[in-house]
Amino acid sequence: MNEISFEKERSEILKKYRSLLTACRHNINQEDRKRIREAFDFATKAHQDHRRKSGEPYIYHPIAVAKIAVEEIGLGATSVICSLLHDVVEDTDYTLEDITDYFGEEVARIIDGLTKISDIFDQTTSIQAENFRKMLLTLSDDVRVILIKLADRLHNMRTLESLPPKKQLKVANETLYLFAPLAHRLGFHAIKSELEDLAMKYTEPEVYQTIQQKLADTRAARTRFIQSFTKPIRRELQKENLDFTIQSRTKSVSSIWNKMKKKEVPFEEVYDIFAIRIVLNAPEEREKADCWRAYSIVTDIYQPNPDRLRDWISTPKANGYESLHTTVMSRQGKWVEVQIRSERMDAIAEKGYAAHWVYKEARPGESGIDKWLRRIREILKSADVDALDFIDDFKLNLFSDEIIVFTPKGELRTLPLGSTALDFAYSIHTQIGDNCLGAKVNHKLVALSYELKSGDQVEIITSKKQSPKADWLNYVTTARAKGKIKSALKEKRKRQAEEGKEILDRKLRQFKIEHSQSTVQKLQDYFKLGSPLDLYYEVAVGNIVQKDIKAFAAEQDGGGLLSYIRKPFSRSKEQAPAKQPEKDPIRQQLKDKPDTLLIGDSLDNLSYKLSPCCNPIPGDDVFGFVTIQDGIKIHRNNCPNAVQLMSKYAYRVVKAKWMTNKSIAFLSGLRLKGIDEAGLLQTITNAISSEHNVNIRNIHLDTHDGTFEGEVMLYINDTQHLNSLIKKLKKVRGIQKVTRIGKMETES
Ligand code: MN
Repeated sequence: MNEISFEKERSEILKKYRSLLTACRHNINQEDRKRIREAFDFATKAHQDHRRKSGEPYIYHPIAVAKIAVEEIGLGATSVICSLLHDVVEDTDYTLEDITDYFGEEVARIIDGLTKISDIFDQTTSIQAENFRKMLLTLSDDVRVILIKLADRLHNMRTLESLPPKKQLKVANETLYLFAPLAHRLGFHAIKSELEDLAMKYTEPEVYQTIQQKLADTRAARTRFIQSFTKPIRRELQKENLDFTIQSRTKSVSSIWNKMKKKEVPFEEVYDIFAIRIVLNAPEEREKADCWRAYSIVTDIYQPNPDRLRDWISTPKANGYESLHTTVMSRQGKWVEVQIRSERMDAIAEKGYAAHWVYKEARPGESGIDKWLRRIREILKSADVDALDFIDDFKLNLFSDEIIVFTPKGELRTLPLGSTALDFAYSIHTQIGDNCLGAKVNHKLVALSYELKSGDQVEIITSKKQSPKADWLNYVTTARAKGKIKSALKEKRKRQAEEGKEILDRKLRQFKIEHSQSTVQKLQDYFKLGSPLDLYYEVAVGNIVQKDIKAFAAEQDGGGLLSYIRKPFSRSKEQAPAKQPEKDPIRQQLKDKPDTLLIGDSLDNLSYKLSPCCNPIPGDDVFGFVTIQDGIKIHRNNCPNAVQLMSKYAYRVVKAKWMTNKSIAFLSGLRLKGIDEAGLLQTITNAISSEHNVNIRNIHLDTHDGTFEGEVMLYINDTQHLNSLIKKLKKVRGIQKVTRIGKMETES
């Protein structure tokens, strides 16, 4: 590089650094400033030969992460230092000892946490899951590790453009799978929305662009509506001498898209669902009263929907969220959500409670986030839980809404929506869960599967004789309860297996077969069981009986007189068959495969299958997924299963590309909805068969009260043909909606 551009870069780096200092000027003292400078110099030197994929100097990244940590998460000096240093140990020759020497124990501990959890997704599934668990365990040490990781991910998402497409998709999917829900759960609403939007830009580029364009087109009309809606509110609030600002929230692209999919409606029915926010500048002792005053003013002007009042001021959400929500009818006949909160509440809602509570000690006592962290730690400690199951359960908990219930003594408990009496029992104590017989909800006797509602008072009835059953897993939603039940069942299975071992010992002696390791292996093979434990268990519960052993013995004899038809015994329904560990051949297969799988060149001799869950056809963005029994399956990138597959089993994903070959027809499906008209079926079939190169495999329509719903499966060449057919069908009289089958319809 020549001298001039080097100088230019140098000054650009300093400029970025100074802007970081400006961002944290309120949070730091002279001493902090010195330490931050040291960290900056250290990181700049360590990364001096590194460049980002975009070609920029690497140090841009740590500086940007530090800035996010301050501005958007609200962290302090130590976190700025750690953000600046977060990639040093991982990417350069400096060690953790160096960090300890220069910056002390506290910084080193956080850097250690950050280094350990980095790149967890580049691993195989099981390591990934295990690492994820470790990452959450670091929550118990220092929540700043997670928060800096979030800042790191946010900056990587903002600069994702410079990575190769395959990597983009992977990073975007991980973000949807893990980081967005994590941000949500920690209370960082703005970050969560941004992560989701950025991810969608790569996972569903076309939909993203379309919605964004439509939002831009409708901006002026939306502004007019909001102005006329808020005008009388402003006037009345001013009359009451309240100090306030009114914000109108633009919905994020991803939230619009989620609504469109969930409600199966077009953009036009979603984009103008408005929400406005009234933020009051009030001292803390008056903020509740002021919020309710504002509420009363708003509902005097506009009629509220009585079912839609949400009071998170009296009982904040577990992530710390406090706000008052109501939905009122505007003069134009549209419902508008109105959120009312104080400036303090707004800061918490936007930047997350974690930062507030941990570092500013906003209020004493155990806060919602603290309780949540404690629950996570408890789940993590029950080491028996399968790491993958754990992630799934945990994710569910990240997404779920909450209910609030009471103990008999009036103590308040927060549980995920859908929690049952049994979940409640486990939330109190493992022993109470294990011995749970049923419950009294509001003094009435209910089953342990009873689903709780907010406001219920719950008393658990226990019995020493009760113990966890396999079907209990169907009655619980919390990760904690699931984990506890699973480990109890496992424990029980182990005990039963021990009995089974003795029984088997006796049976084998009758047939004069030695109870050796090789016999056990043969028995396992014979009964198709995964482990000796499974074998003993099946014996103990009576699924393998005398005559089964006899048949086995006969086979060992060489068939002889006791020849038999080999038949696997019938398993009890309670236990699913033991999972076979994934074998290496998959990895082998992957190694032997070309970089990009070409599909569509021929339909015979296929080493892949088109997945029936999303029916991809040429023109769709697709990827290949290596399955254990079925070879490679091709999915659409926006297949509902894709996010999970890509993030959980990244190493089994292969790039795939269509080879255009117009002469081959692929199976695809359309879902139709509309008003039942005379001769509709005929019209639809005509429309389809008049299209070139399209053949109907089957079609069926269900009519109901003058409306119809139907499905057409057809053979078609590619998305171009399909889209033109969709357009045509939409013009047919009576048809209101045409969507592609494969669940996440993008063509609606
Ligand atoms: Mn980084």
